[in-house]
Amino acid sequence: MGLAVGIDLGTSNSCIACVRDGQVIVCLDSEGRNTQPSVVAFGSRSVVVGSRAKKQLLHSPEGTVMSAKRLIGRRFEDAEVQRMKSRSAFGVYRGDEGDARFRVHGKGYAPEEISAHVLAHMKRIAEAQLGEVVDKAVITVPAYFNDAQRQATRDAAQIAGLECLRVLNEPTAAALAYGYNNAQKKRIVVFDLGGGTFDVSILRVDGDLYEVIATAGDTLLGGDDFDHLAADELLRIFEAQVKQNFTENRTVRMRMREAAEMAKIALSKSEEVMIDLPGVWRNAQGQDYSFSYQLDRHTYARWVLPLVQRTLGICEETLKTAKMNTRHIDAVLLVGGMTRYPLVREAAQHLFGRMPDTSVNPDEAVAVGAAIQAHMLTSMDDSMPASVLLDVTSHSLSIRTMGGHCDVLIPANTPIPTEASKVFNTAVDQQTEVRIAVFQGEGRTADMNELLGQFVLAVPPMARGQVRVRVTFTIDSDGIVQVRAVDDKLGKEAAIRIEARGGMTPEEVRKAQFTSGDVVQNNPEQTRGR
Ligand code: AMP
Repeated sequence: MGLAVGIDLGTSNSCIACVRDGQVIVCLDSEGRNTQPSVVAFGSRSVVVGSRAKKQLLHSPEGTVMSAKRLIGRRFEDAEVQRMKSRSAFGVYRGDEGDARFRVHGKGYAPEEISAHVLAHMKRIAEAQLGEVVDKAVITVPAYFNDAQRQATRDAAQIAGLECLRVLNEPTAAALAYGYNNAQKKRIVVFDLGGGTFDVSILRVDGDLYEVIATAGDTLLGGDDFDHLAADELLRIFEAQVKQNFTENRTVRMRMREAAEMAKIALSKSEEVMIDLPGVWRNAQGQDYSFSYQLDRHTYARWVLPLVQRTLGICEETLKTAKMNTRHIDAVLLVGGMTRYPLVREAAQHLFGRMPDTSVNPDEAVAVGAAIQAHMLTSMDDSMPASVLLDVTSHSLSIRTMGGHCDVLIPANTPIPTEASKVFNTAVDQQTEVRIAVFQGEGRTADMNELLGQFVLAVPPMARGQVRVRVTFTIDSDGIVQVRAVDDKLGKEAAIRIEARGGMTPEEVRKAQFTSGDVVQNNPEQTRGR
């Protein structure tokens, strides 16, 4: 039997951890890195993952896929997918089922397959360090992920040869890592600003019970956006210096972006930093130009303040959803690499009126929580309490009624398991059937929401309003939705079980599974061990 681990499968970076002999171990690669870029680079004969793949980005952007998490389980038409399509050097296209896929060097890949490469890479790093086979994992996802995104994440695990023990919400994992298990009635804010996204969640922890009370975020707000914004400013300065427009010059833009990120990281420790880019541009006459600029925290803060303010606005909205104010909050946990930046910390501290808890490394918190959960699910170790993790529905569930309106039976943020019922009357005279169409989403009308499934209940023909149909939604603790419709008078019943589907069919997932023969790595990080 192999080991069970926790994996934070992040948009920009991933982290893997394990509990062994009562100790949490965050697995490092051969160069001592605790996180790995969630980047996959396709060469002519090999696939490289992690930091080596990220290095390839500069000279082969069209063969290097990053941020696959932004596409996983999404429809091609989704705004997020369209945004990624317009920004990426690799292709993004519509799969046969309307899902979003990547095209790299003329070959199509589902986001699940890209994520599977990242998971397999993480698995190998853990195996090299721990000297044991890793075959089970708790994998974390944002709390707002819908059923399709969660299922697609499970499928990615299956392709990578990992049994997915549970898909765990990231804020819940962070709360576990920070040791809030068995806390007496604490209300916790998890402020998670990573490379690609911002998420804020309010949790109630009471003994072994974890409840996500409210969660919100912005999938278009993360460290990358800080870097893009700062790179634009640096580019403007350089353009003014050399009187040249670089809008179409990808190489100069990428170098500026890289410099912006390095400057940001340096500024998180010092007041100012010297940016030096020798020979960043060569003009048509073959003359090289360099860029030098002294950046200080004050100027950087002026550039990125609107982004920081957006995070605070989202926090205020989330408090409102949870019907709380900052006085109700007992602890603020910081997660994600960007929370190392002092301005971000100070902003969170100012809003919540308390020092954030920084006792856990923000890069590792989610993976550590997932590892603790994996350990709880697989071991007989009594020293770890078996916490009950109570989740909430990420989106409202409704049925379509007259005029295409959606009637919500289970609102977003309802703790699961849950059940809700409502009685509906027939709308037309002599109607012989009632079609129950189940939707997910916050739109008022069905066309704004996602159709999860539909079924028909035959009813006796009568005058409208005479037949009463009771519709019951049940969600179990695994998030599986069951919808039942019963003719109140005759007791006749029809039902549907809504199975989550990611972008790939079960057959595709099975075929895509990696076998030991096609470990398509030529990455010394795995083979060298530690
Ligand atoms: P994550 O997705 O949580 O791995 O966070 C990645 C983001 O955190 C990237 O935008 C990094 O540039 C940023 N980051 C990492 N370390 C630091 C640091 N010391 N200061 C500021 N930002 C950082």
